[in-house]
Amino acid sequence: MTSALSTRIAATPVSELLASARDAGSIDRGVAGRLASEAPLSDLLAASSELRARGKGTVVSFSKKVFAPLTTLCRDYCSYCTFRKDPGQPGAHFMTPEEVLALAEQGRAAGCKEVLFSLGDQPERIFPEAREFLQRRGFARTLDYVAAMSELVLDQTGLLPHANPGVMDRPALERLRQSNASVGLMLETVSVRLMRDGLPHAKAPDKVPALRLRTIEEAGKLSMAFTTGILIGIGETFEERLDSLFAIRAMHEKYGHIQEVIVQNFRAKPDIPMAHHPEPSLDDMLRTLAIARLILGPHMNLQAPPNLSYADFPRLLEAGINDWGGISPVTKDFINPEAAWPQITRLRSETEVRGFTLRERLAIYPEFIPRDAFLSPNVRAHVKRSADASGYAI
Ligand code: SF4
Repeated sequence: MTSALSTRIAATPVSELLASARDAGSIDRGVAGRLASEAPLSDLLAASSELRARGKGTVVSFSKKVFAPLTTLCRDYCSYCTFRKDPGQPGAHFMTPEEVLALAEQGRAAGCKEVLFSLGDQPERIFPEAREFLQRRGFARTLDYVAAMSELVLDQTGLLPHANPGVMDRPALERLRQSNASVGLMLETVSVRLMRDGLPHAKAPDKVPALRLRTIEEAGKLSMAFTTGILIGIGETFEERLDSLFAIRAMHEKYGHIQEVIVQNFRAKPDIPMAHHPEPSLDDMLRTLAIARLILGPHMNLQAPPNLSYADFPRLLEAGINDWGGISPVTKDFINPEAAWPQITRLRSETEVRGFTLRERLAIYPEFIPRDAFLSPNVRAHVKRSADASGYAI
């Protein structure tokens, strides 16, 4: 930012900055910093709600999905993670193809349209047990296995896969493209500082921000609808949150492939190294979501998981979100197993009593479906069977 611009921003009253942000539907980095630290929360919420109304009307979406924890083994040791396991620990597991198919069938029977593969990152790089499991089935990498399981599920059940396997290189993305309606990787943060000793990513080689941004960029080059987002409350500063959101925006401006941005709040759990780390407050979450809406604009799909805000979850609607993410009628949230999802009926009543319409979407958002480049022919055929004319789930 030029010094003349920063002087102008510093001299402009916050209320004026917010009014022009609302009118323009976008803000630059300097304005974001000023609004984040000085704007009253109620004004931010009003502005973000207005932008959502402009871009999304009153529709709030969710996806009925089954969660498949393909493997809990992971080569990273993020200090906030309760999902990952070392071989031999209770819960350490690689799902077999039979288990994957049985779970997907259960999801299909319960009306799910999506299977979300969540898994640890590249466990074969450090664990012989992971290499042996994969080799026995003819795979060298977990990334090949998740692609094969996506193909199996799509062909056998018609559920649309969405893989979230960590950092992906181009060959992995190219193969996943053949069976996945969209893929995901949380950017989490652009803060390299959090990789220092004693901080949450010190022992997590796949959390190098540049690697994650490269994955997002490669997916953009391949026109793959992409889910990403930030994780808040793990020791990052608010300025670092803003930098992360601007990095996501820059990717979307270049490739137009970011289908949704998730703001996920850290929750402490007894069995993690960060068990006593303070959790972000609801106000912090609301402020971050509202700023995210102002940065990302009226048309971006902005999601916050309802189960991580417990009874307060309906208040997240005040901050400009338009999506609740995946709700599972079958499986628990393996990433936050202590946090139960609200039942879909409760989600609907809490959403609709606030003047919104809850709609079920697919693993790919409606606006991406008509874009030819964004679905392989095989996946498109399955999407057609599950979507209505507006692109939402039948
Ligand atoms: S958050 Fe993801 S990458 Fe980090 S330890 Fe857990 S499973 Fe592995």
